[in-house]
Amino acid sequence: MSRHFASLLAIAVVAVTLTPGAASAAPKEKEVDCTQVKCVALTFDDGPGKYAGELLDTLKKHNAKATFFLEGQYVKSRPAFAKRMAVEGHELGNHSYSHPNFTTIGPAAIRSEIQKTQDIVKQVTGVEPKLLRPPYGMADLQVSDIAAEFGMPMILWTGGSRDWESKNEEAIKKQTLAVAKQGSIVLMHDWVKQTVDSMPSLIKTLQNKGYHLVTVSELIKDQKLEPGDIFPVPEGWEK
Ligand SMILES: [Zn+2]
Repeated sequence: MSRHFASLLAIAVVAVTLTPGAASAAPKEKEVDCTQVKCVALTFDDGPGKYAGELLDTLKKHNAKATFFLEGQYVKSRPAFAKRMAVEGHELGNHSYSHPNFTTIGPAAIRSEIQKTQDIVKQVTGVEPKLLRPPYGMADLQVSDIAAEFGMPMILWTGGSRDWESKNEEAIKKQTLAVAKQGSIVLMHDWVKQTVDSMPSLIKTLQNKGYHLVTVSELIKDQKLEPGDIFPVPEGWEK
């Protein structure tokens, strides 16, 4: 499906779900300007995870967009979820094929991890990821150079839900709300059941606080990132 068709579809969905009084909570996503309104980008790593279908239902119901940093191996085993993510207007990023720490493997292996994932995502969804999130958020200058070869900036996160650690719905909600601020990029995982279970209430709370849930690319539009750049810049990072 082309991007154009996908956006027409998204507008149609907004049009039929808009009801009087809900206008401020569900604006047309194309008009969200994150320099003017409060935005948060929820990001889900390592998927498509087992519970992605349920998560996609929740996101659709609340007109929220997310970014999925996918592992090629799971795009291969769960292609229908990856396809749905693209069709329903979410952003797909590259999170390697099998999740090695890029700072401990050679350049050929890094290139292969990235390329294989670009290929399978393109093959399954028709979309080519434009953002790289290195596994564990681990990068160095070599990883940056290789990301640049692929034309991709590297996206880390401003705060984490610590969902993989707590595996507790209340703790995930509390931690996510604590780190979700204007311009935040929040790290979550769609293989954690409690994360997916917490999403209806979490999204409602964030939207009631005035946040628009947008993709990473929408959120960072103003950053003018170049291929190989890293955002947010981690402490001690020198270029
Ligand atoms: Zn990961």
